[in-house]
Amino acid sequence: MPIERTLSILKPDATRRNLTGQINARLEAAGLRIVAQKRLHLTTAQAEAFYAVHRERGFFRDLVTFMTSGPVVAQVLEGENAVARNREVMGATDPAKAAPGTIRKDFAESIEANSAHGSDSAENAAVEIGFFFAAIEIVG
Ligand code: GDP
Repeated sequence: MPIERTLSILKPDATRRNLTGQINARLEAAGLRIVAQKRLHLTTAQAEAFYAVHRERGFFRDLVTFMTSGPVVAQVLEGENAVARNREVMGATDPAKAAPGTIRKDFAESIEANSAHGSDSAENAAVEIGFFFAAIEIVG
């Protein structure tokens, strides 16, 4: 199985409720290593750029407002099939549809304030990791 890296973001609803440690414990228990991590408060321009792919969606403005409403924790996760593994541990976008035991099922407040982001492909992971981190900041 390939060792991959994926970009994870612990969203403002998670930092606000002091849940970052509990979420990190879930990630680590799933075999994902946190090889880079930083806490930051996204500007509107940064959130718009990160979610540019969703620019035409009806919820884009709300999503940008939410993602800039408090600090986030951006992280690079490394492990076997890290992209798929992280999405498995996060669960479905809508917490009402997420499987039991997943981060979103247990912690998310809504389909928008759903506690965590995870890249959806290896290609997007590379782009998203480059958005937040320089190579020198990733320590495997
Ligand atoms: P993900 O890959 O599971 O994060 O889901 P998407 O890429 O489809 O959506 C990106 C993010 O936009 C989600 O994680 C949510 O925070 C938000 N989002 C998705 N669908 C909706 C929606 O229908 N309404 C609102 N308000 N936010 C949404």
